[in-house]
Amino acid sequence: MAAAAMISMNSFSQDLIARQAPIDKKLKTVDSLMLLKQIRAEQSEFPALDLYASWSNEFVHRYGKDVTIPNSYDIDLTGFCMPTTNTRITSKFGPRWRRMHNGIDIKVQIGDTIVAAFDGKVRIVKFERKGYGQYIVIRHDNGLETVYGHLSKQLVKEDQLVRAGEVIGLGGNTGRSTGSHLHFETRFLGIAINPALMFDFPNQDIVADTYTFKKTRGAQQNIAGSHDSEIVEGEIRYHKVKSGDTLSRIAKLRGVSVSTLCKLNGIKTTTTLRIGQVLRCS
Ligand SMILES: [Zn+2]
Repeated sequence: MAAAAMISMNSFSQDLIARQAPIDKKLKTVDSLMLLKQIRAEQSEFPALDLYASWSNEFVHRYGKDVTIPNSYDIDLTGFCMPTTNTRITSKFGPRWRRMHNGIDIKVQIGDTIVAAFDGKVRIVKFERKGYGQYIVIRHDNGLETVYGHLSKQLVKEDQLVRAGEVIGLGGNTGRSTGSHLHFETRFLGIAINPALMFDFPNQDIVADTYTFKKTRGAQQNIAGSHDSEIVEGEIRYHKVKSGDTLSRIAKLRGVSVSTLCKLNGIKTTTTLRIGQVLRCS
């Protein structure tokens, strides 16, 4: 049958077959695009599946042995949105009143709009009277989890997919809080990272396009030991060059020497800085 068809094939149908070939190729491309789309859809169903093997609405940061902390991991910060347009930091990340402050506090008024920092999926929407108050935890595709505390209103539900910039709640003064503010945490596999290493609230910008997480001895202890021990991670600091910046000005601002800046970034004291250029400062 096939042979007969071949014999009777005229130039017109040959032409058709010739034209068919690239279409087949195109179809294959479409197939792999579909597959890619499907993979992405699954990933958005459970963000950062490669890092977090499980999904639970239970705890903010108790992962223990359920996760493996990589030695180094590049967290993609592009596609971010500042969670609040407020710029005043009222409390920094770090030890405070003999406790560890695992996030930073940004002054907000009750009712101020709070938005998701990146695309992701809402993991927790809960109330904790003696702690976070009304809070939200979102897991993002880039591997980070963000925590938004002391809200007056939660406007999302657990397991809901959100986009960067989507309204998730309103600022408030609930829980262990004096004066309305947003308590904002950035966590990677449960480990609290100073949000100021990634988010520049005063300038409403990210510090760099990527934040490289490095496993530290502290992080190791966090996994092996108590779930509640907290780690100050991330000694690498960055500076995004702004108009008017000079090496000496950046050095002064970041508390490093000009020669250290040059060494870290492979530049000379005479190198012209570009606006938007990201310099490593530690
Ligand atoms: Zn706080």
